[in-house]
Amino acid sequence: MGLKTLGKVLLIPALILILMSQISCNNQNIESSDTNLTVSDHFDPKGKGPSKHTLAIWEDWKKSLPFDDKRDFEEAQKGFIAAPNSKQIKNEEGRVVWDIGRYDFLLQDQDYKTIHPSLQRIARLNMSFGLYKVTDGIYQVRGFDLSHLTLIEGKTGWILYDVLISKETAAAALKFANEQLGERPVRAVIYSHTHVDHFGGVRGVIDEEDVKSGKVMVIAPEGFMDFAVSENVIAGNAMNRRLFYQYGILLPVSPYGHVDQALAKNASLGSVGLIAPTISISKPVEEMVVDGVRMIFHNTPNTEAPVEMNTYFPDKKALWMAENVTATIHNIYTLRGALIRDALTWSKKISEALYMFGQDAEVMFASHHWPRWGNERIQEVLRTQRDAYGHIHNTVLNLANQGVTVNEVHNVYEVPPGLQQQWAARSYHGSVEHNSRGIINRYLGYWDANPITLMPLPERETAPLFVEMMGGASPIIKKGNTLYNEGKYMFAAEILNKLVFAEPDNQEAKNLLADCYEQIGYQQESTSVRNSFLAGAYELRNGIPQGEQGKSVTPDVIRAMSTETWLDFLGVKLNSKKAEGKAFKMNIITPDNNEKFLVELSNSTLSNLKGFTAKNADLTLTLNRADLNLAMMGVKTFEDLLKEGKAKVEGNPQILAQLVGMMDEFDPRFEVLPGTKKGEYKKGSGNTGLDAPAYIED
Ligand SMILES: [Zn+2]
Repeated sequence: MGLKTLGKVLLIPALILILMSQISCNNQNIESSDTNLTVSDHFDPKGKGPSKHTLAIWEDWKKSLPFDDKRDFEEAQKGFIAAPNSKQIKNEEGRVVWDIGRYDFLLQDQDYKTIHPSLQRIARLNMSFGLYKVTDGIYQVRGFDLSHLTLIEGKTGWILYDVLISKETAAAALKFANEQLGERPVRAVIYSHTHVDHFGGVRGVIDEEDVKSGKVMVIAPEGFMDFAVSENVIAGNAMNRRLFYQYGILLPVSPYGHVDQALAKNASLGSVGLIAPTISISKPVEEMVVDGVRMIFHNTPNTEAPVEMNTYFPDKKALWMAENVTATIHNIYTLRGALIRDALTWSKKISEALYMFGQDAEVMFASHHWPRWGNERIQEVLRTQRDAYGHIHNTVLNLANQGVTVNEVHNVYEVPPGLQQQWAARSYHGSVEHNSRGIINRYLGYWDANPITLMPLPERETAPLFVEMMGGASPIIKKGNTLYNEGKYMFAAEILNKLVFAEPDNQEAKNLLADCYEQIGYQQESTSVRNSFLAGAYELRNGIPQGEQGKSVTPDVIRAMSTETWLDFLGVKLNSKKAEGKAFKMNIITPDNNEKFLVELSNSTLSNLKGFTAKNADLTLTLNRADLNLAMMGVKTFEDLLKEGKAKVEGNPQILAQLVGMMDEFDPRFEVLPGTKKGEYKKGSGNTGLDAPAYIED
């Protein structure tokens, strides 16, 4: 392998991954015990309706939760100004990147018993679409993406708070607001935190030249650029694969499939950008006047994101809670994979906001869901969320200190009845189950202190023994059916999972396991858990969807990535076996940003050290970081750059080829459930209706 392919091989799949799925829909009717379902055609010929057990659980939830408290619905509708005629947003090529209309079945006055009644409630609340007034001089465009665009009237123009995922949706939101409220120039953009649904659409609302010339300010909490990209690189391929589960991104939109994303309907599929902030907020509390509007920034690191900030507008008595307080309990553990968040700090930061600003505030709003008006209501919601995070943290550790393990706590921990009855304490994005386990994991790790679980045998190796001891496949299927018919889906899944691991080609076993997963999915309040089970059912029935790896590179994100992070990722991509017995030292010098790196291969480990070079290096590669970006994006190869004189090498150029030859390529469709992998990629087989976004953080 020569230099020619180097650029390609060193690409960052985590950031360029767009999987286009191919899911066949059909109109075959299925038997359903839910007579209320008007969208009666399951998208999957093997799919089932809700069982009588699922229906009974549905009715229990309907009776036990406070559905007569309709304040959320009143607040979600309050301040509505107008909605555009079209629910679709297209990109320059005419491809649909957003379509909230796909979820219109939720607007019918209809109970879908394939959807937990509480989840159905939030799924309806998340159908808000259009322009809304929050208070004098503050507006929001909702339902244009996973997050809202917030517009604040400054003295001379708009101050925009969080700017959606894609430039297309952000541009459409700003255009619609300008049409309704009068055209105003954008004077400032504020990123509340490092997740892509809060900065990705920036190029749809401002021009980078105006930022450079100082016409437009971009404000963010300190450390924003360090975390905006790095969270998703090192384990990016695994995170993308797990996103299939948590976000159900390949599930068709249907009462039997994808119904909501907890924070909103879904993520848009347009182009993601990033313009670096020009002003960093570094103090714990910092006051600033932006285009004539007084703002008090409240930094809240290590809460919902590594860096995040709330804002209080004292002259408007308006409190912006970023994503720290929404209408759901968030993820302490994010199922796609992320470092476990700190529930205690999160709770304390809400408490700070409650006592610094919450005593005076008359309206509270955020980048998801709807505002809360009136001081009493604001304090109620702040206390509810503070206590929900605080309670799960404290009580889970109380239990852990009494010997309850990470593998038991989700069956033991209970949300107190007072919080259970408050909608703001319900877990739609997080779940009580995975968050409680996450808290033990943060403090004690994954081990329950039973030696057998310290280094478990591979499931594929133990499953055949279990199956043999249970008398083979047929008694397991028989018992699985009995348990299924009794509504004991988790028990049925337990034994069927062993059979599927022992016999990955046993489709009967996979189908029955899928039936269990489907009922478990229907019973969940949390979208993360529902989507995970329904995605698992889909793959067991049909295999991993065939798809295509898109070529969508997000240049802004690559540019924003540090060279160190990129080199760290190459260390992860290195195939240890191929590197055995090999050794070299290489210098990389990027004069335009004044950086240098010593890259060393030894003991099958690729290390890099910023700020150093080796005197006796085997190779020194000199090129500007601006040109290295092109290689990182795959736009140019190193050979191109050498030919153009943009890169130069001293020493042995074969080192580069050697390095390339030792890199692994990660399969974005690696198998999770046994026997679900079908063939290789078919280029061009993608279906534009069900594309997966490049990456989602939330
Ligand atoms: Zn968000």
